[in-house]
Amino acid sequence: ELKSKVAVVTGSTSGIGLAVAESLAQAGCQVMLNGFGEEAAIQQLQSRLSEQYGVAVGYSPADVACPEAVAMMIRDTQEQFGGVDILVNNAGVQHVAAVEDFPAQQWDKIIAVNLSSAFHAIQQVLPGMKARGWGRIINVASIHGLVASPYKSAYVAAKHGVIGLTKTVALETAKAGVTCNAICPGYVLTPLVENQIADTARARGLTEQQVMEDVLLGSQPTKRFTSVEDIAAMAVFLCGPASTNITGSVQVLDGGYTAM
Ligand code: NAD
Repeated sequence: ELKSKVAVVTGSTSGIGLAVAESLAQAGCQVMLNGFGEEAAIQQLQSRLSEQYGVAVGYSPADVACPEAVAMMIRDTQEQFGGVDILVNNAGVQHVAAVEDFPAQQWDKIIAVNLSSAFHAIQQVLPGMKARGWGRIINVASIHGLVASPYKSAYVAAKHGVIGLTKTVALETAKAGVTCNAICPGYVLTPLVENQIADTARARGLTEQQVMEDVLLGSQPTKRFTSVEDIAAMAVFLCGPASTNITGSVQVLDGGYTAM
């Protein structure tokens, strides 16, 4: 069913987005990659995916913090592949600091990348999806869209916003053949998390080992990180035939974090 669908995955040069893009390519989708990275590495990724799965793989360098760049990424995809059937809003950044020390610039950037980019991309893809009567929008939120942690005010606010956006788009598209869902991972060991271990250690006066064991996995009852492959499998499921009546939902993959 996903053969020759066109998927845009923001922030797909690393971590969760890369795994989602790869799984969609494996399912037969043409994929538009996006995110930062070295040109050579990105070209290598494009040819690996397209050779391995026999699909076309494009790349947009759009900085999704910029609405015009998001619009250009969607236009480029439409021109190269004829439309956008699947949109995965995944690009995200983090900054860890107490509210009173939180740099306003970091606040603005996190809201732009983690929340507003999804709005701008959705706005661009919806007319085509509605016209074709088929569309899948997946927003990678976080357990921080459901609960908070200290020192992550912008991230928590943005991710709560993503869930609100997800539900609103789901209601507006409910009869159009389009679904819009959120995925909420708990902790996944990607560069995003690896980078904040040092910052969290500093903010809380702990060692990096203590942050891993007590702060990250301390709140995940399974004591395991969720894998990027498991999140990708959920994304593919949400695009597949069993999920046509799943919309406005929040899929939580958190090792029991939010059950506590
Ligand atoms: P990552 O740092 O490994 O990857 C982030 C990707 O986003 C990279 O490809 C990067 O180049 C891209 N990116 C960053 N800023 C961008 C911008 N302005 N424009 C375009 N691309 C940009 O992070 P990850 O852990 O894979 O995170 C992916 C998503 O999953 C994020 O939305 C994050 O909040 C969410 N998430 C991650 C975890 C986790 O534990 N890792 C948990 C819950 C939610």
